[in-house]
Amino acid sequence: MSLPLYAVYGGSGCGRGIMPLAREMLRSQGVSADRLVFIDDNPAAEKVNGQLVCRYAEFLAMDASARYAVIGIANSGIRAKLADRLREDGVRAWSVQAANVVIMDDVQVGEGAALSPFVTLTSNIRIGKHFQANLYSYVEHDCVIGDFVTLAPRACINGNTVIEDHAYIGTGAILRQGSPGKPLAIGRGAVIGMGAVVTKDVPPGVTVVGNPARPLVKS
Ligand code: UDP
Repeated sequence: MSLPLYAVYGGSGCGRGIMPLAREMLRSQGVSADRLVFIDDNPAAEKVNGQLVCRYAEFLAMDASARYAVIGIANSGIRAKLADRLREDGVRAWSVQAANVVIMDDVQVGEGAALSPFVTLTSNIRIGKHFQANLYSYVEHDCVIGDFVTLAPRACINGNTVIEDHAYIGTGAILRQGSPGKPLAIGRGAVIGMGAVVTKDVPPGVTVVGNPARPLVKS
Protein backbone atom coordinates (compact mmCIF):
# COMPACT_ATOMS: atom_id res chain seq x y z
CA MET A 1 0.00 0.00 0.00
CA SER A 2 1.37 3.43 -0.96
CA LEU A 3 1.99 6.04 1.71
CA PRO A 4 2.11 9.83 1.45
CA LEU A 5 5.45 11.40 0.55
CA TYR A 6 6.66 14.72 1.95
CA ALA A 7 9.38 17.09 0.77
CA VAL A 8 11.25 20.26 1.54
CA TYR A 9 11.99 21.89 -1.83
CA GLY A 10 15.50 23.42 -1.63
CA GLY A 11 18.45 21.68 -0.01
CA SER A 12 20.53 24.73 0.85
CA GLY A 13 20.52 27.06 3.89
CA CYS A 14 16.82 27.84 4.05
CA GLY A 15 15.70 24.28 3.33
CA ARG A 16 18.12 22.85 5.88
CA GLY A 17 16.52 25.10 8.51
CA ILE A 18 13.04 23.84 7.65
CA MET A 19 13.83 20.12 7.32
CA PRO A 20 14.17 19.43 11.08
CA LEU A 21 10.82 21.12 11.70
CA ALA A 22 9.22 18.99 9.00
CA ARG A 23 10.82 15.84 10.42
CA GLU A 24 9.59 16.63 13.92
CA MET A 25 6.05 17.39 12.71
CA LEU A 26 5.88 14.07 10.92
CA ARG A 27 7.41 12.21 13.88
CA SER A 28 4.68 13.60 16.13
CA GLN A 29 2.12 12.23 13.64
CA GLY A 30 3.79 8.82 13.60
CA VAL A 31 5.19 9.23 10.05
CA SER A 32 8.62 7.71 9.39
CA ALA A 33 11.47 10.06 8.41
CA ASP A 34 12.08 7.97 5.28
CA ARG A 35 8.84 9.40 3.83
CA LEU A 36 10.52 12.84 3.88
CA VAL A 37 13.05 14.03 1.29
CA PHE A 38 14.68 17.16 0.00
CA ILE A 39 13.93 18.14 -3.60
CA ASP A 40 16.70 20.05 -5.31
CA ASP A 41 17.14 20.79 -9.02
CA ASN A 42 20.88 21.07 -8.53
CA PRO A 43 21.66 18.59 -5.75
CA ALA A 44 25.00 19.04 -4.01
CA ALA A 45 24.98 15.56 -2.43
CA GLU A 46 22.87 12.39 -2.28
CA LYS A 47 21.94 13.08 1.32
CA VAL A 48 21.89 16.28 3.36
CA ASN A 49 21.82 15.95 7.14
CA GLY A 50 20.74 12.35 6.77
CA GLN A 51 17.82 13.09 4.47
CA LEU A 52 17.68 11.88 0.86
CA VAL A 53 17.99 14.59 -1.84
CA CYS A 54 15.99 13.97 -5.04
CA ARG A 55 15.66 15.84 -8.26
CA TYR A 56 12.09 16.98 -8.92
CA ALA A 57 11.44 14.30 -11.55
CA GLU A 58 12.63 11.63 -9.10
CA PHE A 59 10.27 12.95 -6.42
CA LEU A 60 7.36 12.71 -8.86
CA ALA A 61 8.36 9.17 -9.81
CA MET A 62 8.57 7.84 -6.24
CA ASP A 63 5.76 5.63 -5.04
CA ALA A 64 3.27 7.75 -3.08
CA SER A 65 -0.45 7.91 -2.32
CA ALA A 66 -0.16 11.73 -2.19
CA ARG A 67 2.69 14.22 -2.38
CA TYR A 68 3.23 17.25 -0.15
CA ALA A 69 5.97 19.91 -0.35
CA VAL A 70 6.98 23.02 1.50
CA ILE A 71 9.29 25.36 -0.40
CA GLY A 72 12.44 26.06 1.62
CA ILE A 73 13.92 28.81 -0.54
CA ALA A 74 14.10 32.41 0.65
CA ASN A 75 13.83 34.05 -2.80
CA SER A 76 10.12 34.77 -3.20
CA GLY A 77 10.21 34.80 -7.01
CA ILE A 78 11.62 31.27 -7.02
CA ARG A 79 9.01 30.24 -4.43
CA ALA A 80 6.26 31.51 -6.74
CA LYS A 81 7.67 29.70 -9.78
CA LEU A 82 8.04 26.45 -7.88
CA ALA A 83 4.59 26.79 -6.28
CA ASP A 84 3.08 26.91 -9.79
CA ARG A 85 5.06 23.88 -10.86
CA LEU A 86 4.04 21.88 -7.80
CA ARG A 87 0.36 22.79 -8.19
CA GLU A 88 0.37 21.79 -11.87
CA ASP A 89 1.81 18.41 -10.92
CA GLY A 90 -0.72 17.76 -8.16
CA VAL A 91 1.75 18.19 -5.30
CA ARG A 92 -0.05 19.70 -2.32
CA ALA A 93 1.32 22.80 -0.60
CA TRP A 94 2.45 21.76 2.88
CA SER A 95 2.79 24.08 5.88
CA VAL A 96 5.49 23.36 8.41
CA GLN A 97 6.03 24.97 11.78
CA ALA A 98 8.24 24.57 14.82
CA ALA A 99 6.64 23.06 17.91
CA ASN A 100 7.19 26.25 19.91
CA VAL A 101 5.52 28.70 17.48
CA VAL A 102 2.94 30.83 19.29
CA ILE A 103 -0.26 31.63 17.38
CA MET A 104 -2.94 33.58 19.24
CA ASP A 105 -6.57 34.34 18.30
CA ASP A 106 -8.13 34.66 14.84
CA VAL A 107 -5.01 34.14 12.74
CA GLN A 108 -5.28 32.86 9.19
CA VAL A 109 -2.13 31.73 7.38
CA GLY A 110 -2.29 30.55 3.75
CA GLU A 111 -0.95 27.28 2.39
CA GLY A 112 2.73 26.43 2.19
CA ALA A 113 3.94 28.45 5.19
CA ALA A 114 7.22 27.80 7.00
CA LEU A 115 7.30 29.08 10.58
CA SER A 116 10.67 28.75 12.33
CA PRO A 117 11.33 28.29 16.04
CA PHE A 118 10.32 31.17 18.35
CA VAL A 119 7.99 32.81 15.83
CA THR A 120 4.96 34.54 17.31
CA LEU A 121 1.81 35.57 15.45
CA THR A 122 -0.45 37.43 17.87
CA SER A 123 -4.15 38.11 17.19
CA ASN A 124 -6.40 39.06 14.28
CA ILE A 125 -3.86 38.53 11.53
CA ARG A 126 -4.26 37.57 7.85
CA ILE A 127 -1.31 36.11 5.97
CA GLY A 128 -1.21 34.84 2.37
CA LYS A 129 0.39 31.83 0.69
CA HIS A 130 3.97 30.57 0.98
CA PHE A 131 4.86 32.83 3.88
CA GLN A 132 8.22 32.35 5.55
CA ALA A 133 8.81 33.60 9.09
CA ASN A 134 12.35 32.97 10.23
CA LEU A 135 13.73 32.55 13.76
CA TYR A 136 12.34 34.92 16.42
CA SER A 137 10.35 37.02 13.95
CA TYR A 138 6.96 38.19 15.10
CA VAL A 139 3.77 39.64 13.65
CA GLU A 140 1.67 41.75 15.99
CA HIS A 141 -2.09 42.32 16.00
CA ASP A 142 -4.23 43.39 13.02
CA CYS A 143 -1.60 42.92 10.33
CA VAL A 144 -2.46 41.93 6.77
CA ILE A 145 0.32 40.18 4.87
CA GLY A 146 0.20 39.11 1.20
CA ASP A 147 1.56 36.10 -0.67
CA PHE A 148 5.24 35.04 -0.82
CA VAL A 149 6.31 37.41 1.95
CA THR A 150 9.57 36.63 3.76
CA LEU A 151 10.55 37.63 7.29
CA ALA A 152 14.24 37.19 8.07
CA PRO A 153 15.29 36.33 11.64
CA ARG A 154 14.07 38.73 14.33
CA ALA A 155 12.00 40.85 11.95
CA CYS A 156 9.56 42.80 14.12
CA ILE A 157 6.22 43.49 12.49
CA ASN A 158 4.25 45.69 14.85
CA GLY A 159 0.50 46.07 14.82
CA ASN A 160 -1.69 47.48 12.03
CA THR A 161 0.83 46.89 9.26
CA VAL A 162 0.02 45.91 5.68
CA ILE A 163 2.75 44.04 3.80
CA GLU A 164 2.10 43.34 0.12
CA ASP A 165 3.11 40.29 -1.93
CA HIS A 166 6.80 39.42 -2.32
CA ALA A 167 8.08 41.94 0.23
CA TYR A 168 11.24 40.94 2.12
CA ILE A 169 11.83 42.12 5.69
CA GLY A 170 15.50 41.80 6.66
CA THR A 171 17.08 40.52 9.83
CA GLY A 172 16.25 42.56 12.91
CA ALA A 173 14.22 45.16 11.00
CA ILE A 174 11.56 46.95 13.03
CA LEU A 175 8.32 48.22 11.49
CA ARG A 176 6.61 51.00 13.42
CA GLN A 177 3.05 50.27 14.47
CA GLY A 178 0.35 51.68 12.18
CA SER A 179 -3.09 52.64 13.39
CA PRO A 180 -6.55 51.28 12.65
CA GLY A 181 -7.64 52.90 9.37
CA LYS A 182 -4.10 54.09 8.68
CA PRO A 183 -1.84 51.05 8.64
CA LEU A 184 1.87 51.27 7.91
CA ALA A 185 2.14 49.99 4.32
CA ILE A 186 5.02 48.04 2.80
CA GLY A 187 4.55 47.82 -0.97
CA ARG A 188 4.78 44.81 -3.23
CA GLY A 189 8.33 43.55 -3.62
CA ALA A 190 9.80 46.13 -1.24
CA VAL A 191 12.96 45.16 0.62
CA ILE A 192 13.59 46.28 4.19
CA GLY A 193 17.31 46.13 4.95
CA MET A 194 18.64 44.41 8.05
CA GLY A 195 18.26 46.46 11.18
CA ALA A 196 16.19 49.13 9.45
CA VAL A 197 13.69 51.08 11.55
CA VAL A 198 10.74 51.76 9.29
CA THR A 199 8.70 54.78 10.34
CA LYS A 200 6.92 55.57 7.06
CA ASP A 201 5.22 53.68 4.24
CA VAL A 202 7.58 52.01 1.75
CA PRO A 203 6.48 52.12 -1.90
CA PRO A 204 6.39 48.96 -4.05
CA GLY A 205 9.79 47.71 -5.22
CA VAL A 206 11.79 50.15 -3.08
CA THR A 207 14.68 49.05 -0.82
CA VAL A 208 15.06 50.98 2.43
CA VAL A 209 17.89 50.88 4.96
CA GLY A 210 18.92 52.57 8.18
CA ASN A 211 17.30 54.31 11.14
CA PRO A 212 15.04 55.96 10.26
CA ALA A 213 14.79 53.87 7.11
CA ARG A 214 15.39 55.70 3.85
CA PRO A 215 15.51 54.52 0.23
CA LEU A 216 18.82 52.94 -0.67
CA VAL A 217 20.71 55.11 -3.13
CA LYS A 218 23.05 52.98 -5.18
CA SER A 219 26.36 54.70 -5.91
N1 UDP B 1 16.80 25.47 -6.23
C1 UDP B 1 16.06 24.51 -6.88
N2 UDP B 1 15.25 24.91 -7.92
C2 UDP B 1 15.16 26.22 -8.32
C3 UDP B 1 15.92 27.19 -7.64
C4 UDP B 1 16.74 26.78 -6.58
O1 UDP B 1 16.13 23.33 -6.53
O2 UDP B 1 14.41 26.51 -9.27
C5 UDP B 1 17.67 25.05 -5.12
C6 UDP B 1 19.15 25.32 -5.39
O3 UDP B 1 19.75 24.27 -6.10
C7 UDP B 1 19.71 25.49 -3.97
C8 UDP B 1 18.50 26.04 -3.18
O4 UDP B 1 17.34 25.78 -3.96
O5 UDP B 1 20.10 24.25 -3.42
C9 UDP B 1 18.58 27.54 -2.95
O6 UDP B 1 19.71 27.79 -2.22
P1 UDP B 1 20.23 29.24 -1.87
O7 UDP B 1 21.41 29.05 -0.98
O8 UDP B 1 20.39 30.04 -3.14
O9 UDP B 1 19.05 29.93 -1.09
P2 UDP B 1 18.44 29.74 0.38
O10 UDP B 1 18.57 28.32 0.78
O11 UDP B 1 19.21 30.66 1.26
O12 UDP B 1 17.04 30.19 0.20
